[in-house]
Amino acid sequence: MAEIPDWDKLTFRFYPTEWMYRAFGEAGRDPIWDEGRFIPFGEIPVSPAAAFLSYGYSVFEGLKAERGADGRIRLFRPRDNAARFSRSAERLAMPAFPEETFVRACGGIVARNIRFLPPAGKGTFYLRPMMHGTEPVLGVARANEFAVTIYGSPVGDYFTGKDGVRLQIVRLARAAPGGTGGAKAAGNYAGTIRLRDAARAAGFDDVLFLDAAGKGLVGETSGSNFFCLFEDGELATPPLDDTILAGITRDSAIRIARDILGVRVVERPLPIDEVLDRGREAFCTGTGWTVRPVTAIGAGERTRALAAPDLAPRIREMLRGIQSGARPDPFGWTVEVATPRS
Ligand code: PMP
Repeated sequence: MAEIPDWDKLTFRFYPTEWMYRAFGEAGRDPIWDEGRFIPFGEIPVSPAAAFLSYGYSVFEGLKAERGADGRIRLFRPRDNAARFSRSAERLAMPAFPEETFVRACGGIVARNIRFLPPAGKGTFYLRPMMHGTEPVLGVARANEFAVTIYGSPVGDYFTGKDGVRLQIVRLARAAPGGTGGAKAAGNYAGTIRLRDAARAAGFDDVLFLDAAGKGLVGETSGSNFFCLFEDGELATPPLDDTILAGITRDSAIRIARDILGVRVVERPLPIDEVLDRGREAFCTGTGWTVRPVTAIGAGERTRALAAPDLAPRIREMLRGIQSGARPDPFGWTVEVATPRS
């Protein structure tokens, strides 16, 4: 039986839990997907010729559930993750997965792994849905058999002990127009690790990618979206296209800033020079990162320290309050999980 972690020492790493969910799909079948089932967490049988092993035929999601001080457990915007999951799948020639099944499976994983939900204020429960093309193929070919697997893990802070992050600007791109950067494709990630390691060796926490065409426009980091606040009060973030992931935390931050805090939020191309010359405050958003102030941005010789964050902590506080149930949820973002206790 998986061990309960020490709640006071949680970090953002994988802790095994007890139950996972698996569903199987087949192109041309009606319906494509079976209902799926909950099975004990463990290894999954896979053909060495499975399409996802050779060709990166794989997409995934990341979302969280959290136990509130009121004892209730809430998933944060699972329908939005379900929609993005299907969009990512379709970009990689895989079938959409039904939203209701996705949300029900996520809730079921939380309920069955209830022992692994950190106590209120101690951490969150991260869910990792994945879709793989499992059919054996030799050449690059469309896979017609698929599996969805969902497991979860209790997690702590992504950057333990650090409120802010230092970003290194690299001229190498993470995604190009027409590519898969706008999808949560597994293959988008392995290629960033070497760069992130180099950034860490140089005293940064992550990489800030610019556009692939060399126009000097900000994209995103290896796992979060980027925002910059200017002196005139404008909060800018790059517009969504096929090189930037449509972060659900990004959308949440935009709506909190605009609708609750009355900030002028603009989605527009964001030249890195403008950020370095005129940026007052910057932050990144993501499920793992939450809302993370950027304390410095480095461009070779030119590393710029940013002002102490003011807006980022306010957005973060609102967001965390809604996620945990400590604040009202004016946007209807949370979905309560039915547990044996409730
Ligand atoms: N960009 C990338 C490349 C990511 O992997 C993530 C994490 N899913 C994000 C942005 C932030 O997305 P979200 O807020 O939905 O977690």
